[in-house]
Amino acid sequence: MSEQKVIIIGAGLAGSLLAIYLAKRRIAVDVYEARGDMRRAVVSAGRSINLALSDRGIAALREVGMDGYMLAEAVPMYGRLIHPGSGETKLLPYSGRQGEYINSISRGGLNIALMNEAGRHPGVSFFFNERCVDLDVNTGEAIMASGKRVSGSTVIATDGAGSAVRNAMMHGGVERFNFSQTWLEHGYKELHIPSQDQLPEEVGYGDARFAIEPNALHIWPRHKFMMIALPNFDGSFTCTLFLGHKATVLSPDFGRPHVESRPAQADTQNSEAGTQNGFDKLTDEAAVREFFHREFPDAVPLMPTLVEDFFTHPTGNLGTVKCFPWNIGGKALLLGDAAHAVVPFYGQGMNCAFEDIRILDQLIDAHGTDWETVYEEYGRLRKVNTDAIADMAEENFYEMRDATADPVFQRKRALETKLEQTYPDYFSKYSMVTFREDLPYAVAKDKGNAQDQLLMTICREAVSVDDIELEQIIEQIRRISPETSAVPESVR
Ligand code: FAD
Repeated sequence: MSEQKVIIIGAGLAGSLLAIYLAKRRIAVDVYEARGDMRRAVVSAGRSINLALSDRGIAALREVGMDGYMLAEAVPMYGRLIHPGSGETKLLPYSGRQGEYINSISRGGLNIALMNEAGRHPGVSFFFNERCVDLDVNTGEAIMASGKRVSGSTVIATDGAGSAVRNAMMHGGVERFNFSQTWLEHGYKELHIPSQDQLPEEVGYGDARFAIEPNALHIWPRHKFMMIALPNFDGSFTCTLFLGHKATVLSPDFGRPHVESRPAQADTQNSEAGTQNGFDKLTDEAAVREFFHREFPDAVPLMPTLVEDFFTHPTGNLGTVKCFPWNIGGKALLLGDAAHAVVPFYGQGMNCAFEDIRILDQLIDAHGTDWETVYEEYGRLRKVNTDAIADMAEENFYEMRDATADPVFQRKRALETKLEQTYPDYFSKYSMVTFREDLPYAVAKDKGNAQDQLLMTICREAVSVDDIELEQIIEQIRRISPETSAVPESVR
């Protein structure tokens, strides 16, 4: 073992994977986790039950030999399956290329597998029910609620969006610490579609295990709100309803960033103009049933525990956290959601946190355990990219919620699919973010927005994708090169 010891705060997804990376370098690691050990007792994994794992996250798992193991129990999702208020469902593929898809994976299963793998290394110790409450910015000691003070060569805080270490940095003497937190006015609630064998035969779609198409991310876009569903390996689905906390303050454009893909005229689907929907209106069984029957009639027969789930599952908040600097010299570093929590609409929060670890590891390769140099360089490389994914994740909320139901947007997706099928060098913005782990988020954002602008203009004018001359478009797209990007070359 080296003489280094790293203190990790938080044994969530990022903390557990980071412990493996460091252990492989023969660095000793002590991980302090506020919750109990989820391997021994039923401990809520927190936040979403399942999540979408894509190429950036897979690349980080691959480096520690965990990709195959994790993907063995994942359900591939090849596109968005749109459930309009009326009419047929429609599949919008994520990519026109073979082999480009995202994977629905259990959060608890992944977290447990990462902890087990970390625990196999002799230098790794986990300490559960140890909540960090403060960090002494002078000594670099982490202070636990139990009164314990722990220290090592450095502290890496992976204690999530509400990070105690970040709070200590903000309030305890890191000069000029920039911090912003923006809450979405929408909250979320998880609901459940059981596997087919738990449902009456007549309501399924014909599969023995899954009640609806398993290989897709389902979306019920309703303009001011939406529901999504991701498949679980056991045949069930976890649905998430994203809805305003308050019906009264909801305006469709509140806080909405400029998104090139937004529809000119929003398709309100079943949501009649004037109908006010918000969690605050859904206070009794009748209101919940009426809302779901009106807005998601095809999903209701698949949700036998809808009302019970609605009133027993918590309503979560969604927000974006940005802050900087992320380090106190070489004493401490914020990583993952602790440094940059994003809203979940690009399915990138965990993938980005895993990419953080891969980049940090490359810098340890370059600079050894000169933590200050590693952290300074890490912040310089990473901040521009985590800001980019935070912005894109907010924009994607509006895309999923209403643009997916818009005919112009649907034409644009069809055109992007055709371009991807025809030209190996063409990647849509979604593909650049999701399937190109070699491309920094900031470049994907820059180039993707320029492409979106061009393609939306073309699709607004075209009646059908078949009328569009692909060769002319690809030439224009090729001219949008990274050289014209605003992202400095040094961080690309
Ligand atoms: P966390 O997973 O939050 O882990 C933090 C850990 O620290 C926890 O174990 C916690 O108990 C512990 N902790 C907290 N405070 C303390 C303390 N004071 N002391 C000690 N321990 C502490 N990302 C994707 O890539 N794909 C998706 O599809 C996706 N879907 C999502 C859906 C929803 C509804 C939400 C809310 C998020 C989603 N995300 C998704 C984002 C993803 O969940 C996060 O980005 C990811 O969990 C970040 O990992 P982390 O380890 O940094 O933080």
